[in-house]
Amino acid sequence: MYDLFIKGGLVYTEQGFYPMNIVVKGERIAGLICPNQEVEAEKVIDATGMHVFPGFIDVHCHLREPGFTHKEDFYHGSRAFAHSGITMICPQPNLDPVPLTLDAYKQEIEAGEANSVIDFNPPGCPLGEDPNAVHEMSEYGSAWFKLFQKKAPYPYNTAAGTLDTYRIFEAFKKCAAEGKFCSVHPFDQYFYEHAVQSVEDDGLPMKMEHVRPRTYTNEEMTSAAYQLSFLAENAGMPWYAMHAWHKDFIELVRRVKARGNMKVFSSLEYMPAIEPSDYIWSQTTQEWLLCAHDNQPDMAAIWEGVRDGTIDAIGSDNAPHSVEEYQKANDNPKFSAGFGNADYFGNMLISHAMEGDFSLEKLAEITSVNAAKAFGFYPRKGSNVVGSDADFTIVDTNYNWTVSKDDKVYCKNQCVPYVGREMHGKAMYTVVRGKVIMDHDEVADARGYGKFIRPEDCSL
Ligand SMILES: [Zn+2]
Repeated sequence: MYDLFIKGGLVYTEQGFYPMNIVVKGERIAGLICPNQEVEAEKVIDATGMHVFPGFIDVHCHLREPGFTHKEDFYHGSRAFAHSGITMICPQPNLDPVPLTLDAYKQEIEAGEANSVIDFNPPGCPLGEDPNAVHEMSEYGSAWFKLFQKKAPYPYNTAAGTLDTYRIFEAFKKCAAEGKFCSVHPFDQYFYEHAVQSVEDDGLPMKMEHVRPRTYTNEEMTSAAYQLSFLAENAGMPWYAMHAWHKDFIELVRRVKARGNMKVFSSLEYMPAIEPSDYIWSQTTQEWLLCAHDNQPDMAAIWEGVRDGTIDAIGSDNAPHSVEEYQKANDNPKFSAGFGNADYFGNMLISHAMEGDFSLEKLAEITSVNAAKAFGFYPRKGSNVVGSDADFTIVDTNYNWTVSKDDKVYCKNQCVPYVGREMHGKAMYTVVRGKVIMDHDEVADARGYGKFIRPEDCSL
């Protein structure tokens, strides 16, 4: 008697998708069997006509806990992610306290273990003063590290940020000593400040809606990335090229990878780069909330980078704020009114695959396989092999639907981005370590089921 039986689906393997049935015992895959073979199980999922992916991992999201839980928290945010097929997340460290020490890092882990419905591994921040902190967080399980290279109102005003490139280099050396990647939210502050000033120079009101499209430009981000790649190489650190969505930044990553003398992982972020919403719909106050969007990248360069393997992952950059904050955001020109997309993120990527931007095999790589391999979660995560965690994102690629104001959403602020977007394909089930967390838009109230996944626990 098995605990879970998934039958009739096309199951992802690194050689492609094949018709197989999956049997699960406890939290792990117990067997991959013939598509015609039936077994007895406690629970059966009929996946006929569906694709069974290894559970989607989001490498870049903000859950705001601890410290900013009026914006979002582990419980609501993780349920929203499960809603769109995500089984594991890596929440970023612009929190209060910032995880600069093992004690602060543990506070975040405890919040996750008490509240998350899906698995997680947050990157610690390597900018702390304690010389042992990076080593301690690394030993405890931080799979990589993250810092911000920008100063502006929240989310850029925490101790996770610095403009001091000497400190960044010192932090890189600490990460290098642990053999861990460090990702940087890369910016050149001067380009940013001049972009803000140019709004006034052009006689426009100093509003977020005028500032935001002039920031996050190719020059602002790529010039910082060149310096960071140099510092990473000189520190002997594997380089996580994050926010790689402008064409010259992608080209830099392509060149550094081709040179082959340093380990590189790169991601671009969905919310600011690929499908920005100028407005999101608040279900609570029944009004449109202005977000405005950043300088827009070259989409052809993005999809080419994904297809040719320059880009290893796409993160959601789920970055919600409270409704009250959005209502005041436009008067605060340096506020980054990013928005939450957790309820949609997995489905957006599925839709892009169905629209031909990349293949279904590539979808598995950028949502799961590549990150699991780079950060040490493989093969427990990122694979459908016997003994790996029974994490699945089960997708009906033929299901067409449209994002609507009235969609059921699980995020804390009850806001809907992408209203009117026609969608192709949808995650119908989210399974985390053998437990069905989402079944056709219904997310289980599994507070505290999610586990902190340590890389050292991921060999089979
Ligand atoms: Zn972010």
